[in-house]
Formats: sequence, C-alpha cells, structure tokens
Amino acid sequence: MSNRIPVAVLAATGSVGQRFIQLLDCHPYFKVTVITASDRTVGQKYGDACHWILPGDMPDWVKEMTIQPTSPEAVHCPLVFSALPADAAVEIEPAFARAGSIVCSNASAYRAAPDVSILFPEVNPDLTDIIPIQRSLRGWSGAIITNSNCTSAGLTVSLKALYDAFGLKKVFAVSMQALSGAGYPGIPSIDIIDNVIPLIKGEEDKVEHEPRKMLGKVVGNEIIPADFVISAHTNRVAVVDGHMVCVSVELEHSATPEQAVEAFRAYQAPEISRDLPFAPQPVIVVRDEPDRPQPRLDRMTGKGMTTVVGRVRPDPLFGLKYVVLSHNTIRGAAGGSIYNAELLVKQGYIK
Ligand code: NAP
Repeated sequence: MSNRIPVAVLAATGSVGQRFIQLLDCHPYFKVTVITASDRTVGQKYGDACHWILPGDMPDWVKEMTIQPTSPEAVHCPLVFSALPADAAVEIEPAFARAGSIVCSNASAYRAAPDVSILFPEVNPDLTDIIPIQRSLRGWSGAIITNSNCTSAGLTVSLKALYDAFGLKKVFAVSMQALSGAGYPGIPSIDIIDNVIPLIKGEEDKVEHEPRKMLGKVVGNEIIPADFVISAHTNRVAVVDGHMVCVSVELEHSATPEQAVEAFRAYQAPEISRDLPFAPQPVIVVRDEPDRPQPRLDRMTGKGMTTVVGRVRPDPLFGLKYVVLSHNTIRGAAGGSIYNAELLVKQGYIK
C-alpha cells in the first residue's frame, strides 16, 4: 500500500467523480492525491463543496482535501481519472496527455477518434495497442483511454459473448436508462416522475457506434469497428442507478436460447484481465427467473462490475432476444475506468 501510484480525479464532485472517490478508497494500486472540479468549487474543501449522493459516507481522507484547478500545472500525476463533461474534456484531456499523464476518461469527447481506444479489459485488452500510435500521431508522452458510454457497457459485454460464439449480423437495442446517467442534479423530478422520456441527446449515435468499435481491431494507425449493424432507441426512466437494455440479435450462425445462455455463462475475460482487483467476478451472470434482471435487485451483482443477462428467448424477427443490465456509474463509468487503469499498470503503460 505504501508504494501506491498517485492519481488525480478530475471533476471529483459530480455523479461519476463521487464514484471514483468511493471506489478508490483503499485501492491496492492507486492513491488519490489531487482532486479537481470547475471554477465554481476550486479552493473549497471537498467536504464543503461536494453534495454527496452515494450510499455510505464520504471517506474521511477526502473531506479536508482542497479542490484544485483542472489543469496539468496544478496536477502532477502519472494517472488522471477524468469525470469531466465532454465539452470541458475537449481541451483539458489533451493538455494532460501532452504533459505526460495517462488519462482514463469517461467523457465522450475522444471516444469516436480512430486512434483512441474504448477499453473494456474483459472484452478488448489488445486495443491498448493503439497507445503508441496515438502518441506518435499526436506527439503526446501521455495518452487518452476512454470507457464507453454507460448504456453500451453491459450491451457490449453481452454482444462479445455472442460475437465470439456465433458471429453477429444485426442488433436492435432499446434502453431504459437510469437518472444518475444524466449526472447530478440531472433531470428535474417533475419531468421524470410518472414518466418516460424517449430522448437522450446524442446517445443513440453512441450506442450504434461504440459497441462496434469495442469489438473492433487495431489495423494500421486506427481502430476498425467490427462489421455488424446496430439500431438503438434510448429512453430515460425513473430508476436511480442501473441501465437496462432489451436486445434482439441476428447471429451469423443461429443459436437456440439454451446455446446462447451457455455462451454467456462460459464467457471469461482474456487471461491478462482476469485477476485484476476490479475484474468482474463473474463477467456475466444469467438469471433464470422470468422477471429478472431488475435494476433495484441486480445492479450490484459482482460489486456493480458484473453484466446481468436474463429473459433469453427466441425472437420472431431476429432469431434471439434477451435483457441486459449493468450499473451505469460503476461498470459503465468509474469502476470501468479503474479496471482500465489496472490493466494499463499490468501492461506497463503506467508505472
Ligand atoms: P455531473 O454529475 O453533472 O458532474 C459534473 C462534474 O464536472 C462536476 O464535478 C463539476 O464540478 C465538473 N465540471 C463542470 N465543468 C467543469 C470544468 N470546466 N472544469 C472542470 N470540472 C468541471 O456529471 P457526471 O454524471 O458525473 O458525468 C461526468 C462525465 O462522465 C460526463 O462526460 C458524462 O457524460 C460521463 N459519464 C457519465 C456516466 C453516468 O452514469 N453518470 C456514465 C458514463 C459516462 P463542480 O462541482 O465544480 O460544478
């Protein structure tokens, strides 16, 4: 514990930033030495500036930490976890990468760039092969590595199990996304109670692209997405945490629901990612009950890192359908970034 790597959390006061603080408490590799946020809160003590919204108490060690400006000059850490809004990340994250930090980002600002990986250690640890290419193309000594958007997280893990076993041709996905996915304070309560909002700006494009990129390969100087098509509808529902997605798939080689369940249950992370502290144990749980998964009951499976699948059954249009759930601020955000950073330590990118 005494040789832990010093890390910063950028935008530490928000919904995802708080998850980082909670999940990095006593992490075996990383010690939070700097926290930042916007000009609104810079200079204040975290305990005063942050309206803590997570179950359990704010850790004592962070209460007296002073919030620093979000700039490389104020933060000297080999690793920074970014929970910045995308518009702020556009300029800030490259400044850190240029200054030599590895940036594990939750923002969408660079996810679509062909030289930036959307890393999921249980799915695609080889996508870090893009890091030396990114460095040489951009002249950075650090790097930017991203997570997917939170809806693509569990969806992609489930698709990877099917892709490896049967191949994929078409995916039709309809999300029911939790409120915490919109940050804090997020959507006004009067808009969402007794309601479903059938628009999350920009999300459908992300869900149609990011899983394909995550199942893609580094070819030459870029990541080439996997060759299947996704159609997505994304909806906000009155659930606090946990994004659920109803999925229909057309496979290259058709499979019965029983064969699909077997593939989900058999799926394991590649060996390099399997035993890291934040590795999901197991990667996928398949629930047999006809009315599961449910966000309230199943989102904390495997400490919020496991993808939960259920209702695997025939689909008259596409062949197979199922429901998938994952915790949006843990597997879909802070927990996923920490797992990425653990992999980068194991691969020697962070020392
Ligand atoms: P949030 O609750 O609205 O928090 C926003 C945070 O950003 C606050 O800490 C705020 O600090 C800080 N901030 C705002 N402008 C800034 C600036 N110019 N410089 C530095 N800090 C700034 O948002 P969130 O839900 O945590 O989302 C954070 C990022 O993660 C977004 O890019 C989001 O798309 C992504 N993401 C979120 C989820 C999720 O489930 N929530 C999942 C995956 C990815 P102050 O307190 O000082 O205002």
